[in-house]
Order: sequence, then structure tokens, then C-alpha cells
Amino acid sequence: LTLLGIESSCDDTAAAVLRGQAGDAQVLSSIVMGQTALHADFGGVVPEIAARAHAEKLDLCVAQALEAAELSLDDIDAVAVTAGPGLIGGVVSGVMCAKGIALGRGLPLYGVNHLAGHALTPRLTDGVTFPYLMLLVSGGHCQFLIVSGPDQFQRLGGTIDDAPGEAFDKVARLISLPQPGGPAIETRAKAGDSKRFKLPRPLLDRQGCDMSFSGLKTAVLRQRDHLLKDGTLSAQDQADLAAGFQAAVVDVLAEKTRRALAVYAPMTDTPSICVAGGVAANMAIRSALETVAHKFDAAFIAPPLALCTDNAAMIAYAALEQMGTRAPDGMDLSARPRWPLDQSAPAMLGSGK
Ligand code: ATP
Ligand code: FE
Repeated sequence: LTLLGIESSCDDTAAAVLRGQAGDAQVLSSIVMGQTALHADFGGVVPEIAARAHAEKLDLCVAQALEAAELSLDDIDAVAVTAGPGLIGGVVSGVMCAKGIALGRGLPLYGVNHLAGHALTPRLTDGVTFPYLMLLVSGGHCQFLIVSGPDQFQRLGGTIDDAPGEAFDKVARLISLPQPGGPAIETRAKAGDSKRFKLPRPLLDRQGCDMSFSGLKTAVLRQRDHLLKDGTLSAQDQADLAAGFQAAVVDVLAEKTRRALAVYAPMTDTPSICVAGGVAANMAIRSALETVAHKFDAAFIAPPLALCTDNAAMIAYAALEQMGTRAPDGMDLSARPRWPLDQSAPAMLGSGK
């Protein structure tokens, strides 16, 4: 089967062509058009600007994906599109584009949950077998999921406020480092002393896998203001704050991962923990998680970054996985700004967009 995937739920317009079957598929093309420059002056993604940019770029993005795969719409067997969760304007643009193609070509249409796309990616990239543990850590999300099937997700916990990527970005702003904050902080932290400032490890005293990162950001703000009272923020101050903040995030993620593994590992003889999302690029976080995984004899899997961050190949792949167990959607497919993966989970505060 050959699928066209479309993703436009946040600030990337993406299209991809995927060929194969569940557990054995090949990405023929994956085009991601970012919008960073459009939002740069506003200190965050502006929903109206994002929606308009998606509407303007989707057709071109799809055309580029087909061209890169050296295929035409005649070769496509099904269309998959992110139907939520995300910024409603962008999701609606993508869904309308997908409907147009499906209707025009008489192709089956699959509305996919964006988080299912992230969560199933390790099967596309590494052929990981169910059930596996997934830690999704990005600019917009932070949660642990046990993935037991193409649409079987059990949420073990997640952030109750900011996502870690968001915290990295905000802290970078606080200490005058460039955006995106994650890579800037990771680099600067290398020259820093993580023990100079006492920063909290939020929610470690509380049972379970829930996390919190906004208090950590406030603690950095307080330390910064304290330093600024006596003058300016030196390069060493910046490095020490970056290192201290990163170490706190690492400690929280490592301990919560340990708890998630304690719940999940007994479920299988071949445990695997997978990470996805932009924050999974952080080497300090990766190596801490890898250490925890090894304590549980679990494989540690981090898909290539281009497939860890927002893309449309993962959306096409999720549809491919789910085709076996569900019917295509009709032309009444609607965009869902909120769409928790685990329907039994309580409403996600902050962790769902
Ligand atoms: P989502 O994917 O949930 O819609 P998003 O698009 O903001 O959200 P991603 O593109 O997956 O998220 O990741 C971007 C985030 O990852 C940014 O917040 C960025 O600071 C963070 N990030 C990137 N590299 C690193 C790094 N080396 N260390 C920590 N954070 C990082
Ligand atoms: Fe995402």
C-alpha cells in the first residue's frame, strides 16, 4: 500500500509518502515546512498566522512530497491526516486538504491522532514489538504511554503544567540564550556547574509518573533576578543556571521513567522504552534514560530526530497500523482540538494541546 500523509497541527506544514505494511514500511518522502520565521517576532506560535500559512502551503507541500517520492496521486491508495489534537485552524486546513484529495480521487481517508503518530513511530523506525513504553517529550507534550497496539494506549502520567521543551525555551529566554532554547541550554550547560544553584525537583516526592516543570522555571527566574541585583549575568552565571536547570530536568525525567518502567517492565519479557519529541535530542537526558533502561534490562530506542519531531510520515504510518482494525473515516471527519490518546485518562492539564 502507498499512503499520503498530511500533518498541520502545530507550526509545521508536513506531507509524506509511505509504502509498505504495518511493521514493515518505508518512508519514500517526508517534507516538513517550518514556520519559525513567521512567528519569531511574537515569542510563540500565533494560531491565526499558523492557520493561514498551513492553508497557503499545504498544496505545495503535498506536491513536493509526491515529487520527492517520484509518484503522482494516481499511485496513492489512501490519505491519512492529523485530525487532532492541535491548533484548530491548522488541523482544519489539513483535514480539508485531505478530504479534497480523497474525494477527488475516490480514496479512503483516515483521520489520525497526532500523538498516536508519535507513539507508533518506533515501530516504523525500529520495528519495536508491542507492548512498549513511550516517553513523549517535546515543546508541547510530556507523557508516558504503554503502547499495546495500534490504538491501545495507556497513559501512566505526564506533566501537569509546562512541557519540558517549553521550559527549556522559557529558561533560555530568561538567561538571554537564543531560541530554540533546548540546544542553546545543552551547549551552554557543558561549561557550567550544575550544583551552584539549588533548584527544585518538582513532584519527586509525589507517587506516580506525573511531572511539573513550571516551578523549575520560576526558580531559575528567582536566581537570575538575585544575580541581576548585583550587576549583570556573566557567561559563567548563564552556564551554571543552564547546567543546574538541565540537571533538574534530567533528575525528574530519570526518576519518573524509573517508576514508569517499574509498572511496565513486568508486562513483557522483552521490554523496550522509546523516546520521541524534540527534547529527546538532549544527550544528557538520553544518557540518563538509557542508564535507567539498562537497570530494567530494557532496550532504549530513540528514533532519528527527523521522525521524532513533527512530520507526516508518522501520520501515514499510524493510519497503516490502524487500517487493520478500523474503517476509514467519512467526509464528516472533523478536527478535534483536544483528543486524549487514552480515552480513560483524566483530562490532560497542559500536556495536551
Ligand atoms: P509538539 O511536537 O509537541 O507539537 P514542538 O513542535 O514544539 O511540539 P518538537 O518540534 O518535537 O516540539 O521539539 C521542539 C522542542 O524541543 C523545543 O522546545 C526545543 O527547545 C526542544 N529541544 C530541541 N533540542 C533540544 C535539546 N538538545 N535539549 C532540550 N530540548 C531540546
Ligand atoms: Fe508533535
